[in-house]
Amino acid sequence: MSTQLLLDGVNRSFDGFKAINDLSLAVEKGELRAIIGPNGAGKTTMMDIITGKTRPDTGRVMWNQSVDLTRTDEAGSARLGIGRKFQKPTVFETQTVEDNIALALKEDRSVWATLFHRRSAEDTRRIGELLELVKLSHVAGWMAGDLSHGQKQWLEIGMLLAQDPELLLVDEPAAGMTDAETMRTAELLRQIAGRHTVIVVEHDMDFVRALDCRVTVLHQGHVLAEGSLDHVSANEQVIEVYLGR
Ligand code: ADP
Repeated sequence: MSTQLLLDGVNRSFDGFKAINDLSLAVEKGELRAIIGPNGAGKTTMMDIITGKTRPDTGRVMWNQSVDLTRTDEAGSARLGIGRKFQKPTVFETQTVEDNIALALKEDRSVWATLFHRRSAEDTRRIGELLELVKLSHVAGWMAGDLSHGQKQWLEIGMLLAQDPELLLVDEPAAGMTDAETMRTAELLRQIAGRHTVIVVEHDMDFVRALDCRVTVLHQGHVLAEGSLDHVSANEQVIEVYLGR
């Protein structure tokens, strides 16, 4: 495996407050990685830095060992193959589930051109494959607005995958989901890792356990511990941060 994303000594302050403090992190190509940490640990700021939404004050963020992401903006990181899923699902509510995926496949074309042009056999195959993957084939003709919260989250993941990102950043996907949806989401992310690198920020520990992956604990903008969930859960500093002991 090769390193896909490397944060090296990254710092970012807001009005003198160090949100990110000498943060170093390496994620391998195809890896599934969970990022956990208490509120204010710097998780969102870290994602903002990776996607070019926020620039670090100092430090390097290397992509595929060759591109410095600190010089990139959000559009640039998307072009490089970095997709981001925010916590709230954003789908086209008044379009069908299938058309949502079709629109994501054809980001460069207008909505009307996509909806009214005949689809190529290849597009039809790819849409079917993505709907199957996100378990929405049976509701392909539904309006996206009629889906459950969990289904909307999966649809948006399907839409992001339609653009075949190398890295997918996912922010608290399990928030607001039922237990069954949470487990299904963990299974989906495990399925797509390998082909895609996936970084997930999450609070729900049952979900993180189900991801069964390497976990990075952030605290005060710094990596406090890293390893399996069992390994980091046994770390004295992590226990102190989470339980206030
Ligand atoms: P998390 O996502 O882990 O909850 P954040 O990255 O949102 O943490 O925030 C880390 C710290 O940085 C917090 O104390 C937050 O208040 C501060 N922060 C984040 N963004 C800004 C900003 N744009 N302006 C001022 N402070 C910010």
